Amino acid sequence: MTNKDLADLIFPNITKTIEDYEREYPQRNLPENAKVTRFAPSPTGFMHIGHFMPALIDYVLAKQSKGVFYLRNEDTDKSREVEGAVEYIRNVLSHYHLNPDEYEYRDINESKGEYGPYIQSERKEIYQTFIKHLIMEGKAYPCFLTQEEMDSIRESQARDKRRIGIYGRYAKYRNLKVEEAIEKIKNNEKYTIRLKSSGNFNHKFKFNDLVNGEMEFPENDIDIPIMKSSNGLPTYHFAHLVDDYLMHTTHVVRGQEWVSSIPIHYELFKTFGFKMPKYIHIPLILKKDGEKVRKISKRYDPEAKMSYYEEKGYPTYAVIEAVMTIINSNYEAWREGHPNSSFTEFEFSPKKMSSSGALFDLDKLDNISKNYISHLTKEEVYKEVLNWSKKYDIEFFNILEKNQDDSLAIFNIEREQKKPRKDFACFSEVKSQTWYMFDELWDKYDKNYEFQNVQDKEEIKNILTTYFNEYYCDTDDKDTWFDKIKELTDKLGYCSNMKEYKQNPDKYKGNVTDITTVIRVAVTSKSQTPDLYEILKILKKDRIESRIRKFI
Ligand code: GLU
Repeated sequence: MTNKDLADLIFPNITKTIEDYEREYPQRNLPENAKVTRFAPSPTGFMHIGHFMPALIDYVLAKQSKGVFYLRNEDTDKSREVEGAVEYIRNVLSHYHLNPDEYEYRDINESKGEYGPYIQSERKEIYQTFIKHLIMEGKAYPCFLTQEEMDSIRESQARDKRRIGIYGRYAKYRNLKVEEAIEKIKNNEKYTIRLKSSGNFNHKFKFNDLVNGEMEFPENDIDIPIMKSSNGLPTYHFAHLVDDYLMHTTHVVRGQEWVSSIPIHYELFKTFGFKMPKYIHIPLILKKDGEKVRKISKRYDPEAKMSYYEEKGYPTYAVIEAVMTIINSNYEAWREGHPNSSFTEFEFSPKKMSSSGALFDLDKLDNISKNYISHLTKEEVYKEVLNWSKKYDIEFFNILEKNQDDSLAIFNIEREQKKPRKDFACFSEVKSQTWYMFDELWDKYDKNYEFQNVQDKEEIKNILTTYFNEYYCDTDDKDTWFDKIKELTDKLGYCSNMKEYKQNPDKYKGNVTDITTVIRVAVTSKSQTPDLYEILKILKKDRIESRIRKFI
């Protein structure tokens, strides 16, 4: 009996060959140096920033080289699959406009691309063809070790401080005679398929990682499992080999945690004589926690999840920019010189990634975002806040819809000027910063009037009554308005000239800002707001009067 008999017994239905698949998935017809990248998440949880960063790099690499960015669903571990995870990944990619060129979305019955299926659980036959080939060549074998045997091997290895795994004398079934293996299979004994490693742990090989540079590793000598017994699907390592080979991936962008698997992948590609793709192992994403810097945690840091940014209403532009700045240290300088270019035009360089970790800073994101929002038009802000609130705050959505003209005017305060006001970091902040401009919210909220220097109730009353009865003026000219305020100031014994006030503060009850603060607080309840003149203009006489009267 031969290896072929064994292979046929294990895979009776596999009749195709590797060459058949090579013909089916020929070289891609792309310009020279075009990069083929893939985002290959396992649907075992919700997308976090550690997924978003490689996806962004994949996208940039493919777009700037006129290549292909495809999405592969790595769902071989059915027991860990989380419902809705695939749909969520699709939504995040589409939210950020990182749409893959090739994909397969079963839930909405949509697919694109000639190199599919792009869902690993639907590629079983392909993987098994490659595994069958290895068995026929005597380079893979069925292993009948039971879970108990493997546990006891692991325990003894740990006890004796030896390397963990099935290698050398622990690989009990690697030299089993074909006849015996066939007999065991016919007796329904459970098995997994293992690679018959030809590596020597004492030999080293050199490997060039695009981020880490030249690295040296000992050869793999572990007979790693390549097919799971539970469902006949391959392990990650083997699927990586087959998929990235047949889909013609040129660059694999993945987490640092895979660096230790390089010897395995190196051996697998070598065994088949396939060229390895290039690898970009991205650094860990870190965050500042008090004085310490630590790894960002999916469990404890809300900002680790991509849903955080959508819920908060950060513009997609700002999130992409913030992540790009930690991908390459020279990104910010590039952006300054190219304020209007797409991030995809930035020439990403894996060498400029920090291999020790990338520090993600929410303050930085806020700054980027504030700056970005400040340069939107009032209509754009209105649309964005409307979109966000429709999903996350229906009360505010209704108010904005009902008060479109006021909303636009509010969002335009200190906007169309050389240095626009930078007040919103995300769209969820808009309500808490503008609520007092909408009667529906003004009437509903408890107000904490933040009076400052002038605290005396009678004095406040006097300022407000005099202002409204004698100095109130509707005008489109801010200077005229302010002249009136200054007159009011002087009349009440305050000083309208700041220079004069600074020289002789004792001569006055206070200065003009004390007067504007009293008016500001009475009509908004806040001591800090954008331009008071603009606010009064939007509120208009009736509302100002009613607020002042109610207050008094
Ligand atoms: N499915 C793997 C993961 O989610 C992909 C790693 C890779 O990109 O190769 O970690």
